[in-house]
Amino acid sequence: MKLEKMPITALHGVGIKVAELLAKINVHSVADLLFHLPLHYQDRMRRYAIADIKEGMRVSVQGTVLSCNVHCGKRSILKCKITDGSGSVTLNFFHFSASLQNEFSQGALVKCFGEFRRGYQGLEVTHPDYSILQEKQKIKIKSAEKLTPIYPTINGLKQYSLLNLTDQALVHLQQNKIEELLPTHLLDHQISLHDALLYLHRPPLDACIEQLENKTHPAQQRLIIEELIAQQISMMELKLAKKAHRSYSMQPDGKLTKQLLVALTFSLTNAQKRVSEEVLCDLKKSQPMMRLIQGDVGSGKTLVAALAALAVIESGYQVALMVPTELLAEQHCINFGKWFAPLNINVGMLLGKMKATEKRCQTENIQLGLSRMVVGTHALISNSVSFKNLALIIVDEQHRFGVEQRLSLREKGQQQDIYPHQLIMTATPIPRTLTMTAYADLDVSVIDELPPGRTNIKTIALPSVRRKDVIERVYQACKNAGRQAYWVCTLVDNSEALECQAAEDTANILQLSLPELRVGLVHGRMKTLEKQYVMDAFRGGELDLLVATTVIEVGVDVANASLMVIENPERLGLAQLHQLRGRVGRGEMASHCVLLYKVPLSQASKRRINILRTSCDGFYIAKQDLLIRGPGEVLGTRQTGLAEFKIADLLRDEELIPQAQHIANDIMLHHLALIPLLNKRWLGKKNQYAHA
Ligand code: ADP
Ligand code: MG
Repeated sequence: MKLEKMPITALHGVGIKVAELLAKINVHSVADLLFHLPLHYQDRMRRYAIADIKEGMRVSVQGTVLSCNVHCGKRSILKCKITDGSGSVTLNFFHFSASLQNEFSQGALVKCFGEFRRGYQGLEVTHPDYSILQEKQKIKIKSAEKLTPIYPTINGLKQYSLLNLTDQALVHLQQNKIEELLPTHLLDHQISLHDALLYLHRPPLDACIEQLENKTHPAQQRLIIEELIAQQISMMELKLAKKAHRSYSMQPDGKLTKQLLVALTFSLTNAQKRVSEEVLCDLKKSQPMMRLIQGDVGSGKTLVAALAALAVIESGYQVALMVPTELLAEQHCINFGKWFAPLNINVGMLLGKMKATEKRCQTENIQLGLSRMVVGTHALISNSVSFKNLALIIVDEQHRFGVEQRLSLREKGQQQDIYPHQLIMTATPIPRTLTMTAYADLDVSVIDELPPGRTNIKTIALPSVRRKDVIERVYQACKNAGRQAYWVCTLVDNSEALECQAAEDTANILQLSLPELRVGLVHGRMKTLEKQYVMDAFRGGELDLLVATTVIEVGVDVANASLMVIENPERLGLAQLHQLRGRVGRGEMASHCVLLYKVPLSQASKRRINILRTSCDGFYIAKQDLLIRGPGEVLGTRQTGLAEFKIADLLRDEELIPQAQHIANDIMLHHLALIPLLNKRWLGKKNQYAHA
């Protein structure tokens, strides 16, 4: 029997309940289970010399206790140092009893297993599995034949059940070969799928764990390439399907555009001109545009969006601009209003927090086509909103939205097979191979030039004990130099309420320490009007210091602000910090950003902060961010599973993509029958979102 046809319930121990749990991880057949691969491997039996351990390894060591002490701080820690002659390592316990400390008496022989990290005092392992060995056990060596695989799992499904079930599945695999889908001539020298699966579920003890963890073992490469091929094929198919989509072809006469450009106090940068041209060219076609504009913070993406909007409005259609925060919506509304009012174009706005009457008035204007340009948050996709003739949707800071939200907005402009044009703007550049692989069909324009006169932002990092100095610095900047400053309070324990509270407290304290300065406060829980009032005051120079939560991350634009203090930057991701920092450096004077961090910093936070201190290059920073966080989050596809793979990783395996594309092409030409099989094996249901 084919393993693909063998239901998972054919295995012992899989009843309705377990089958339901397995379904949640997309395992329905025995073949599915075989493609549910281990995330990690452990070798609990192999004992490592401490000197051989590298950061991040999960292994066993054995050694005698050198010292064992309780360190008192905010939280007490039991630290036990052991040595095996080759080196030493510290075992950390945050939860411990007095008896544990007694067990770790000097000279006791301890065996422990865990993930090793480099700490302040060399190698450390926190809450390891451990045992104190008695004299007679010292020589006893147990043996196991295989490495222990650790499977990705969900609540209710235990590792040992997965071990047991894969044991059974592997027996079936021995008897019924799994179907080799890739034509062998395309994959010479590669190990067979059958062997690769056997190996990866139960690697022999002498397998190189490091290689397996890095996913560079030939068995893994064999699976990765197949998954990438399946992904490429599904993208190519979608691309073909989209050829049938139609859109509204724009016929702008360019009058309004000319009028706007004349009214501006500056001229477009060359990059803005080039990108606007590219967009205009797309809009004239009768196929939907799907274009991503990448441009660093402050590169002037908004104006490019405005020019695109004008071309559509001139042609008699509506434009919707969707942004992730109310503050940004308001900011855009001000900008667009300023640009469009002299052209007699009404700019509507739709926010979740609006009063019902106001909302109704706005939605009416949208439906009647009186608002030809609408700016809003995800309130735009609510059911009550319908457009008269929406032909362009613009999404700003797309990484903050899920693909689904963008699709819902697109639906509002869809009529049968006529789709609105889409323009996506982001300051988080994504490597081209990634965008091409994650979106079926995406053209990319890059604004690779900042408007003239911008200065680099000098970033420094200071521990929170230097707070007084930082406050003094704010005073100097505002009082002596006549500049303005931001003080950003970051998320506390993932709670917006606490973050707002922290910002309020900080504003009060700063006002007390800086009585001569005018201190304002803006956070997400304030009413729209209140926020607007404070922002206007700051913009107008009536406030010196603006204390804010991360709501000001995007879009706020005050050229006279030249200093930003960010509290607890260690809580934020790189891209977010770069965005925040981009609120300064918008005028012509030297700007500074102070990262006021809490000690001790984790290794990862140190890395992030160092990257920011040394670089202002959004492209470089984004690449680092991608490496740290993985592509799913950056592409905004995490929620939909689009960028989630069983084993491949678009970034890590980037160099395999050309080969995968090559083979995918060959299959599309000569082996059409394989396509549904590959699709089913690797993609399941998840490729429906790529239509975006
Ligand atoms: P971002 O790309 O980060 O969205 P914005 O569109 O907010 O950047 O633009 C940042 C600032 O630069 C705005 O104040 C905008 O008016 C200004 N700006 C845009 N284009 C130019 C230009 N060509 N010359 C001078 N200033 C510009
Ligand atoms: Mg912007």
